[in-house]
Amino acid sequence: MQPFPSTYFTYKNNQLHCEVVPVAEIVKQAGSPTYIYSKKYFEDAYKEFDAAFHEIHHKIFYAAKSNFNLSVIKTFLQLGSGVDVNSEGELYRALKAGAKPENIILTSVGKTKREIELGLEHDVLMIKAESEEEVYLINDIAESMNKVARVAIRVNPDVDAKTHPYISTGLSENKFGVNSETALKIFRMQNQLKNIVFTGIDMHIGSQITSISPFVEAVEKLANLFLILKKEGIELKHFDVGGGIGIQYKDEKPFTIKEYAAAILPILKSLDCEIIFEPGRYLTANAGILVTEVLYTKKNQKKNFIVADAAMTDLLRPSIYGAYHHIQPVNFDETKGEIVADVVGPVCESGDFLAKKRSIQKSEHGDLLAVMSAGAYGMVMASNYNARRRPAEILVEGNSFKVIRERETFEHLLWDEENYL
Ligand SMILES: *Cc1c(COP(=O)(O)O)cnc(C)c1O
Repeated sequence: MQPFPSTYFTYKNNQLHCEVVPVAEIVKQAGSPTYIYSKKYFEDAYKEFDAAFHEIHHKIFYAAKSNFNLSVIKTFLQLGSGVDVNSEGELYRALKAGAKPENIILTSVGKTKREIELGLEHDVLMIKAESEEEVYLINDIAESMNKVARVAIRVNPDVDAKTHPYISTGLSENKFGVNSETALKIFRMQNQLKNIVFTGIDMHIGSQITSISPFVEAVEKLANLFLILKKEGIELKHFDVGGGIGIQYKDEKPFTIKEYAAAILPILKSLDCEIIFEPGRYLTANAGILVTEVLYTKKNQKKNFIVADAAMTDLLRPSIYGAYHHIQPVNFDETKGEIVADVVGPVCESGDFLAKKRSIQKSEHGDLLAVMSAGAYGMVMASNYNARRRPAEILVEGNSFKVIRERETFEHLLWDEENYL
């Protein structure tokens, strides 16, 4: 078994470390299962992304849905990032983490009236509209609040991002955004819409995209619309490229940020406006791991099973997308040999697994396993099914670590139910 290539999670004396802290030491204190994040990874990834676009006027709006822990959002805010939020709840989190409203973009294919009101009340940088009906509703709400709403239109450029169908968003069969014709029609209503000012055009074609060409194709299509509008006197301040950049989970060879920049910079430069990026996974996925303890190992006629204390309730991606997460021992011991096994959780579903048919170091009760690349769409998708408490989250910074979210208690799980007995 090869360890997952990382300079933030490495073996020293056969012990897995996050930065310079032994993972086993963290688990001794925090228990299992636990998410562990490297602060340096967040910072380095952000700085690398930012630097790749230094030639143009740009701003990164971290897509908080990939990891919405307040301390994670705050880490990006301190680096100068804005936040892209997808719901009232994420807006609440962004504000609690200290984001200024002018550094927040409100997204969502189905905003409620309340969410639009909140966006206007807080005066966020812009609200992204995803349908003609929504544009009218925003205009009405803004009128009733005596405000002028800053609005961007999300365009679905109809390009194939060649990613998992569940996370592809830029095809005409997907629910997101409006097509080019509708976008032009909406922008051209600017004069009739007294309580809206169109400030941006936006796209987000999917997630975990590992080839550049869909981005280039989509940016070209959107740039074309931007320039048509400019000729007609509709000058937009922002051109929003969205997120979606793929990372390595297994043996993907994703493009680098420099390559991404080199491919789209020539188009972006010609627009002469502020360029917005909304990376999520790229900044967070490989910053985190989920550590789990082996409860049992067993074997039947067909298979070896490793029953771990982490389940689909802690990391859903394998169950819903069939996603691959590398799994490696926290305590590496070559003498133990390898087996091929399914790594499964305690939940009452056959869909509850972390890995299938995986070559893995032979392990026994009490061993710790690290599920790699778990910093994005991990904890944010965790649930309480089987009345399981969601894991703790730990942030490592250099040679120290701190809890940034305690493991839930059973009181948390009950919420107010006892009051109704
Ligand atoms: C999910 C999402 C992102 C972030 O996507 P990643 O693949 O995590 O980079 C950015 N923008 C919008 C609108 C999104 O829905």
